[in-house]
Amino acid sequence: MTPPTLKNYVAGEWLTPQVGEYVGIINPATGETLAQAPVSGDQEVAEAVQAAAEAFPGWRDTTPYARAQFMFRLKAVMEARSEDLARTVVREHGKIIEEARGEVRRAIENVEVAAGVPTLMMGYNMEDVSIGIDEDCLHQPLGVFACVAPFNFPAMVPMWFLPYAVTCGNTYVLKPSDRCPMTQTLLFELLEDVGLPPGVLNLVHGGKAAVDALLAHPDVQGISFVGSTPVAKYLYAQGAAHGKRMQCQAGAKNALVVMPDADLAKTVPNVISSAFGSSGQRCLAGSLVIAVGDAYEPLVERLVPAAAALKVGDGLDESVDMGPVISREAVERVHRYIDGALAEGARLLLDGRGVQVAGRPDGYYVGPTILTDVRPEMAVAREEVFGPLLAILRAADLDEALAIIDGSPYGNAASIFTTSGAAARTFRHRVRAGNVGVNIGVAAPIASFPFSGMKQSFFGDLHGQGRDAIRFFTERKVVITRW
Ligand code: NAD
Repeated sequence: MTPPTLKNYVAGEWLTPQVGEYVGIINPATGETLAQAPVSGDQEVAEAVQAAAEAFPGWRDTTPYARAQFMFRLKAVMEARSEDLARTVVREHGKIIEEARGEVRRAIENVEVAAGVPTLMMGYNMEDVSIGIDEDCLHQPLGVFACVAPFNFPAMVPMWFLPYAVTCGNTYVLKPSDRCPMTQTLLFELLEDVGLPPGVLNLVHGGKAAVDALLAHPDVQGISFVGSTPVAKYLYAQGAAHGKRMQCQAGAKNALVVMPDADLAKTVPNVISSAFGSSGQRCLAGSLVIAVGDAYEPLVERLVPAAAALKVGDGLDESVDMGPVISREAVERVHRYIDGALAEGARLLLDGRGVQVAGRPDGYYVGPTILTDVRPEMAVAREEVFGPLLAILRAADLDEALAIIDGSPYGNAASIFTTSGAAARTFRHRVRAGNVGVNIGVAAPIASFPFSGMKQSFFGDLHGQGRDAIRFFTERKVVITRW
């Protein structure tokens, strides 16, 4: 069967752009081509931004209460088709079906929170700031916003922004990942039943050329980016140069600190799911374990067999624990990091290279891999690998563990496993990371909290989700009145 060609969605119409280039969307579990996605450029972006700009005045004058109603409808269609959305995530991304169902749930949670916009968007006022003078602060939408999304959460990440942007009264252009664009294509098909006015939401497929066109377009007020650190830095700088609001959530290298008093029966499954869930392709993946003091021996004794027991395969098979990585290049990258770490003196406790999956000879598989004797200055301890590779370091005490984390250029997430309230309190107070877990392996903020991040993991000041999103998507106007 010929794979379908994806279309852009502009002003309420599905368009086949007249572009010269298409990219194949590959199922990483099988190597099969699922679809061809157009590589849009200046013209396709200009059409989408124009549609959004034309829809803005009418949408802005729709009440927040009416705009919120669309979120209730969107929730209903997403609930009804949640299994289709999850299966699309698995096919284009490779994560296991249970993780994809969780991702879709998280996407819906953001729609639910954004439905609270009549309260979330409220301003504030003060009577008699001077005799007979009142002052009001209004929160107003700005116009057209855009999102540039990564491959690793094709259902959820765009929903950290899109529902808030449009309920605040803005209009929107989404550029999904050029590697995983099918889930958002399905979501936009579902949007047809939501009845939003044409132009409020637009979808443009593509890569760097489309992003550059969004950055340069004078009608785009701001861009939400999620992806790797080098690209985040590029967008942040270019966006600022073009006078745009930017929020750029970036790469990560997250440490899981295991204290000697940790409850290992509970800690080990958390570490396993943090390191190997989504095949390590989460920005919240714990890719370093820092074993403090005597924690090392008993931890390794339990961790290695638990990781070795994970079943690797096609994520649509409900019995599988870990799927493939996204591409052949990703397999090669993980192999390179293993080789490099061994050359620098690390030791393999578990080697996932050469894993075979029956019936899937063309899939991009790497098995769970654990390295020990890793030191903080090694590349595998400092750089984002984005694969199922867990590096174990040792620290004499919590101070040393915190110093190792401090030395990382990244600050996305960090977790501590302990039964000591004092250790947990010290950790949460001192650690320089945006999303902190205490006996939690994946410190993923729920939709009403900001998805945080620090250092090279975030560029900007307002994060995705919750109240931060409302502030990002509104301007504060102050009115001073005397009658
Ligand atoms: P990526 O940086 O390769 O791509 C992200 C987006 O940027 C895509 O839409 C892509 O088309 C576009 N893009 C890529 N190169 C570009 C360029 N040179 N100029 C302009 N646009 C470009 O990231 P990815 O591989 O899709 O996603 C994985 C990365 O995202 C990891 O680093 C992960 O840690 C990070 N991530 C961060 C968070 C967070 O909240 N901090 C969440 C999820 C993923």
